[in-house]
Amino acid sequence: MTKRVVLIGHPVAHSLSGAMQQAAFDELGIDARYELWDRAPIGLADAIAELRTDEFLGANVTIPHKERVVPQVDRLTEEAHATGAVNTLTKEGRKLVGHNTDVPGFTVALDQLVGRQKMPRHAVVLGAGGGARAVVYGLIRQGFQRIIVFNRHLHRAESMVKHFGRSAAHMDLRAMPWHESIIEAELSKTKLLVNATSIGLAGDETPVPAEILTPELLVLDLIYAQTRLLRDAAAAGCTTSDGETMLLHQGAAAFTLWTGQPAPLEVMGAALKTARAGGVTSAEGEGGDAAPAPDEAEATA
Ligand code: NDP
Repeated sequence: MTKRVVLIGHPVAHSLSGAMQQAAFDELGIDARYELWDRAPIGLADAIAELRTDEFLGANVTIPHKERVVPQVDRLTEEAHATGAVNTLTKEGRKLVGHNTDVPGFTVALDQLVGRQKMPRHAVVLGAGGGARAVVYGLIRQGFQRIIVFNRHLHRAESMVKHFGRSAAHMDLRAMPWHESIIEAELSKTKLLVNATSIGLAGDETPVPAEILTPELLVLDLIYAQTRLLRDAAAAGCTTSDGETMLLHQGAAAFTLWTGQPAPLEVMGAALKTARAGGVTSAEGEGGDAAPAPDEAEATA
């Protein structure tokens, strides 16, 4: 019987995960089909109930359900419990286990960005949504000593900091109001800047002015595109990385959880690039159309 794996989100039509995961199943000769299920919040419980039948290997969960699905599973892994968000479901018989593979995905992206340099200990994180939770938890586990979170709505950053209370008891995790001068002051004391907002996803906007970026900064944008932030940072001499590595590795971790096999990373990476070149635009967590990278925009103009 062909096994089924589904992505549950709303919307899901532009997701890159389908191409990436189906290519991996096909490469390893696994008889499984990856399906996109567009389910509004009202249909989530029924979708989750359906997964308990034998034909399903598991699922991915994306916007807007990552937090909503938490009380609907039978068990949470440490990452899912700590972040309060689930992006992958596996089965133990009829029981469902909630995982958060954005955390290991981010950790691989961070390691690659830092490369041979010493792992920094201070970070500035922009954003307080589901992506930011995976980032902050990944940084805490990595041993960061000071993490400052800026968010447009300060209360959301404050509640995220509170949520991490116990895991962050040994270090300095703070929410601060989004003022350019405060961000600039914090950046001057830090080595790592992570953009976990969706600013730059739909238009050529940047969360911080180019003038406050200094060459020693490592800049990671979770958005899977050469955003204006990344272009400004590269022009300032910073080391930069986009969301591709995180997207690829969260998917690879999910694949291994469903199949018990190492993920064919090269095949998955190539499928991602082909899907994106063909106009599929959305990384998981991206609700709609990402802005094309400027070079792609020129190529198709
Ligand atoms: P959420 O909707 O949970 O959070 C969105 C965040 O962006 C919030 O902090 C929100 O601030 C902020 N934001 C949105 N618009 C604006 C604006 N105009 N001005 C200031 N702040 C704004 O989304 P996610 O956390 O799931 O995703 C955030 C980004 O990370 C997306 O671009 C997504 O594609 C990317 N992502 C990438 C992944 C990958 O694998 N590469 C994985 C997960 C996410 P506020 O709270 O004030 O509204």
